[in-house]
Amino acid sequence: MINLVLFGPPGAGKGTQSAKLIEKYQLIHISTGDLFRKHLKEGTPLGKLAQEYMSKGNLVPDQVVIDMVDDKIKSSGNINGIIFDGFPRTVKQAEALDALLTKNNTGITALVELMVNEDELKKRLAERAHKENRPDDAKPEVIENRIAVYKAETVPVAEHYKKLGKYSAVVGVGDIEQIFTNLCREIDNHLLSK
Ligand code: ADP
Repeated sequence: MINLVLFGPPGAGKGTQSAKLIEKYQLIHISTGDLFRKHLKEGTPLGKLAQEYMSKGNLVPDQVVIDMVDDKIKSSGNINGIIFDGFPRTVKQAEALDALLTKNNTGITALVELMVNEDELKKRLAERAHKENRPDDAKPEVIENRIAVYKAETVPVAEHYKKLGKYSAVVGVGDIEQIFTNLCREIDNHLLSK
């Protein structure tokens, strides 16, 4: 299997690049943010719980996220691989994911980070707030908190995969096709060295 973690701060372009990577490598997409938004729209208890955290820009508790991802993988059947988008967001989630994949005789192929500076991120989130009706993108204090949480809780996840020799980074600003080409080059290098 090819299992990729697409990594980067809110607004880095993970959704955009995921869509392209899924097609090229024939993967399924697991975006924990999308899954929570779907639960919220459907009014499930999980959706209501997640909303309390999302609206403030805080992380949903690890075990809640891990159980949801576990269910999603279990119900996916026979697949070529998975692209994880917005997950893992804490080292605890990363360790749980590694254990889950090991149980399925597979593992993470690579974590690829999209690097985008903070001014550009804030500009993109403000635009997305209008386009996609995301209330968590509309309030400056919520955006600030998400970026702060990212630095404190999520950046260590990159370190975790760096130690395992699975980390790469590409610049996430510029032409979408060029960023995609650069991502694929990094991923293909990890596939070759497997
Ligand atoms: P972003 O654009 O900020 O990367 P996402 O769509 O990935 O946003 O996630 C939106 C919100 O959903 C997050 O701010 C957080 O509250 C919650 N969330 C998503 N994924 C996770 C996760 N892996 N762990 C904890 N909370 C999560």
